[in-house]
Amino acid sequence: MAAIGRAYGGTTPCGGRDFPARRRRATWGPMSRPNRPIYLDNHATTPVDPRVLAAMRPWWEENFANPGSVEHAMGRAAEAAVEAARGHVAELIGAAPNEILFTSGATESNNLAIKGAARFVRANEGSRFAAAAGDPRRRVITLATEHKCVLESVRDLAAEGFEPVVLPVGRSGLLDTAALEAALSEAPTLLVSVMAVNNEIGVVQDLAAIGAAAKRHGAIFHTDAAQAAGRVPVDVEEIRADLLSLSGHKIYGPKGIGALYVRRRPRVRLAPLFSGGGQERGMRSGTLAAPLIVGLGEACRIAATEAMLDAGRIAGQRDRFLAALRAEVPGVEVNADAERRVAGNLSLAFPGGVTAGAIMAAAPEVCVSTGSACSSAEVEPSHVLRALGLPEARARATLRIGIGRFTSPADVDLAAAALGAAWRRAVSSLESARGPVSAGAAEQG
Ligand code: PLP
Repeated sequence: MAAIGRAYGGTTPCGGRDFPARRRRATWGPMSRPNRPIYLDNHATTPVDPRVLAAMRPWWEENFANPGSVEHAMGRAAEAAVEAARGHVAELIGAAPNEILFTSGATESNNLAIKGAARFVRANEGSRFAAAAGDPRRRVITLATEHKCVLESVRDLAAEGFEPVVLPVGRSGLLDTAALEAALSEAPTLLVSVMAVNNEIGVVQDLAAIGAAAKRHGAIFHTDAAQAAGRVPVDVEEIRADLLSLSGHKIYGPKGIGALYVRRRPRVRLAPLFSGGGQERGMRSGTLAAPLIVGLGEACRIAATEAMLDAGRIAGQRDRFLAALRAEVPGVEVNADAERRVAGNLSLAFPGGVTAGAIMAAAPEVCVSTGSACSSAEVEPSHVLRALGLPEARARATLRIGIGRFTSPADVDLAAAALGAAWRRAVSSLESARGPVSAGAAEQG
């Protein structure tokens, strides 16, 4: 947070150069400061809500006790704060508090859910999820557009003898439930893992249908809801999830904390990833990070009451931004399904043959992303855009916009103007380098 507000000499955290000072309203939430960059990267991370920060503060400054130290008063108070937070997390997703485990984030939750469930079943063949003798379940089904931590977890399981099936998506980014049904019918399936909301293209999968299909075939159903919790309604009963991952820093909470929902009835068992003190009912050893957990709890409490309000306002900002950008950049197109998408997301393909990187370099005051932040060190177009079957040039010309709770109308107006000007500069430098290019160049190749 502190780093975002400064004007930088040299490279900024947004990957660009310094930007000119400008006057702005300074009253729009935690990010409002004069001369700050415009932050439209709320899929990578969100700012901490000031109410979350206030809730966490005493657990850093006044009571720093280990929540496991229940033999003294400070420890018991910390434990009570952790349990209150567990209740808030549970409530957001329609679960019971004793079905929530705290982890370090969605990466860990996804690893624990996928590897933990698969390894437990294999180690306990004959359990509820294993088919009749001689028919062990080894198939693990996921989607080509999942976050890398899910895809890599499934790949790790393949190395252990499980059978991975990575289903494709079409241009919409949505899973074809008939393809899932076919994969489920082909072989006894241990686990289905399909994300709720995609972190790059924002599409919302039909989890109720996916969960129902998984259950019809006796498979465990896991969903990565890191981008969904607090943005769209999520109810573990409605979608019939056995395991669900979420992350603090995607819902205006702190970084380094997440949760995993683990169904109790019927009970889902996990082989732990770590050995240790046996916290979190033996599934996730390690001292509970009370201040972070309190922050996650408060973020979930706020989300449970305000997410729908947020979504309406954010959708308005998104439409305002897109209209303003279209006036600046005729021919800019939205990737993936236009309807089934989370309010704040736009995955935008720019015309004119320019790359998203060139536009970002020409608009250093705007913080957006060319792909998922977790993989932006890679120069390849993201695996998500590839999975949509987009031509290479269109994938390279794609920017991800993430509008959030603290994005102001001024932010979106300034960002649209800045990105429009940056696009024109990028096109003209390309034209001067190699002659005029057609407006539809991004579609080629
Ligand atoms: N899953 C999705 C869909 C995400 O967007 C992210 C973060 O980018 C993660 C998992 C990883 O979350 P965390 O940063 O909490 O480990």
